[in-house]
Amino acid sequence: MRYANRIEKIPPYLFAEIDRAIERKKAEGADIINLGIGDPDLPTPGNIIRRLQEAVEDSKNHRYPSYAGMYAFRKTIADWYKRRFDVSLEPGKEIIALIGSKEGIAHAPLAFVNPGDITLVPDPAYPVYKIGTLLADGTPVTMPLLEENGFKPDMEKIDRKIAKKAKLLFINYPNNPTTATAELEFFREVVDFAIDNEIIVCHDAPYTEMTFDNYRARSFLEVKNAKEVGIEFHSLSKIYNMTGWRIGSAAGNSEILAGLGKVKENVDSGVFQVVQHAAIEALEGSQDSVRKNMKIFQDRRDLMVEGLQDLGWSVEKPKATFYLWFRIPKPYTSSIKFSGDLLAKTGIVMTPGIGFGSHGEGYVRCALTQKKERLEEALKRIKRFTS
Ligand SMILES: *Cc1c(COP(=O)(O)O)cnc(C)c1O
Repeated sequence: MRYANRIEKIPPYLFAEIDRAIERKKAEGADIINLGIGDPDLPTPGNIIRRLQEAVEDSKNHRYPSYAGMYAFRKTIADWYKRRFDVSLEPGKEIIALIGSKEGIAHAPLAFVNPGDITLVPDPAYPVYKIGTLLADGTPVTMPLLEENGFKPDMEKIDRKIAKKAKLLFINYPNNPTTATAELEFFREVVDFAIDNEIIVCHDAPYTEMTFDNYRARSFLEVKNAKEVGIEFHSLSKIYNMTGWRIGSAAGNSEILAGLGKVKENVDSGVFQVVQHAAIEALEGSQDSVRKNMKIFQDRRDLMVEGLQDLGWSVEKPKATFYLWFRIPKPYTSSIKFSGDLLAKTGIVMTPGIGFGSHGEGYVRCALTQKKERLEEALKRIKRFTS
């Protein structure tokens, strides 16, 4: 089989290799503790499920939805932005529904990138920024996220010629995988850079509500002129444990959204209305379950960070996301070797940093997506592994 060049350019999926190693280990009868997946283990809150059940009984919801999303859903997103960030958006043209934010991120380059055009993508990062670019025959150029810069790209280090040629710039805060957060000052710098170089900014923000210790994450759209240059992707997946439901949104510049909308209009047919009704309930209904779930993640974070610190590993408590991101313990230098040994000797899965890009080498990501008892068991096994 000959695949198209753009498919051949997509690097091999490291995580498929990890999955095979897990399967082999399972076949040996090992009890696997998977801290590799960024998928909440907690159930979707009951009020959202009940709303879905009601909505599915109504045959009006069985037909093709509108491409851009129901007005009521877009209004809900607008109201949420107003409440949460004091950002005003017009539901009719400054918000669209997505089949999960991944879908919108992957499709955005198709609307703005011509063959050979450059996009600026962070490294380490969620892989879709780079892959979406490759699928549009574009050329992703890496912005390294270094610990000494708080895992934010150093905008001044971006080559001026590259910047002038770039069409899109992706950022993501609170960040997966590094757990870094960003303040408005950084977003302002990005907006200025985007105006100077005529670049579209795509801010991927599925973790703004997954924060700890009363930390409140900011929206990119809070910054003056952000709406002139960019859009922000949001998702219900992580915060409402709805990863399988497939719904998210993009908000911001209406012309950028119209471009993305044109791609989507011709590729998909919108989000099942039943899911949109459930999403409205998620955002407008009681947020008690969110607070409860974040307390669970915070307890897990504290347990795991303190446990690993006791073993001498250099782990810090993140302010946001449900991951830990830390340097692999000495004498390891290869994150793949570390993750491989950890799996072989303890049955614990953590994601090697290099899976998120070459600047992730030397780090590992641990997802807090297992119950406390399993994390306690993991700590016991890690203690044996290190002694
Ligand atoms: C989980 C995740 C997404 C995808 O979310 P969906 O809305 O489920 O597609 C996007 N970006 C980042 C950084 C993520 O971690």
